[in-house]
Amino acid sequence: MDLVPLHPDFGAEVRGLDIIDVATSDKAYQTVRSAFEQHSLLLFRDQEIGDDVQVAFSRAFGPLERVKVGSEGFGTFYSRLNNLASDGSLVPETHRQALTARANQLWHTDSSFKQIPALASVLSARVVPQRGGETEFASTRHAWARLSTSLQARLRDAVVTHSYAHSRDQIDPTLMTDPERTALPPARWRMTWGNPVNGRLALYIASHACAIVGLADTEARALLDELIANATRPQFTYLHHWRLGDVLMWDNRATMHRGRPWPHDQPRSVVRTTVSAVDADGLAEVRPPNGTL
Ligand code: MN
Repeated sequence: MDLVPLHPDFGAEVRGLDIIDVATSDKAYQTVRSAFEQHSLLLFRDQEIGDDVQVAFSRAFGPLERVKVGSEGFGTFYSRLNNLASDGSLVPETHRQALTARANQLWHTDSSFKQIPALASVLSARVVPQRGGETEFASTRHAWARLSTSLQARLRDAVVTHSYAHSRDQIDPTLMTDPERTALPPARWRMTWGNPVNGRLALYIASHACAIVGLADTEARALLDELIANATRPQFTYLHHWRLGDVLMWDNRATMHRGRPWPHDQPRSVVRTTVSAVDADGLAEVRPPNGTL
């Protein structure tokens, strides 16, 4: 296996190994897991991707999030993100699926608003538009390392509130229904997430982050905005131009990402699977320090 850097700070293309190998070989899994812990973002090209292969690969890394689909309940592992109706036609720009795509264009980390946040996301391209629709990444591990020692001391054990409603309301206050709001109460996490293998800290912030315990809301939002802006300056990001057969896997503990817009008259379809971040006791890895709540 060879690793080819995607950006000077983070990210690597994995060559000489297919994602199905990870599902069938512990040695391949250990190799890829180690690269994941070190590089935070992995790219596999020219994969024969399908739902079954994607799930088999993803679940090698831990338990998968279940996804609610309409009235079918939590029956699937796939988040299907596209601008297509069930008959294959394009949905209008005001459709819920189109608004969801716009919300995904805010810098975020997946599932930080859930009671169990995400270790990793796996995204495969199924339909790629002729232009646009890229996914852009920033390393929050490197963003943390660039902060001054005094700011690091202040933020290391800060506790941040993450709310799905906060990010969705920025796009359209009608995007979330009242039952959805009730089902997804805010979650609170430590602002830094230490990698259990190499000890490196990363900022754990996102478009879902809306408050910091002990700070006035205006002050907290200004600080979060500034941290996100500094983490995502263009020289610090990697922009992925999708090709069919591409599979990306990223570390939600150490990166932020956003979708990029594409022309509304072009179809785009991607499928995400998400690995939950649980420790040996089945508890969320990034619990706030004791006594802060
Ligand atoms: Mn996302």
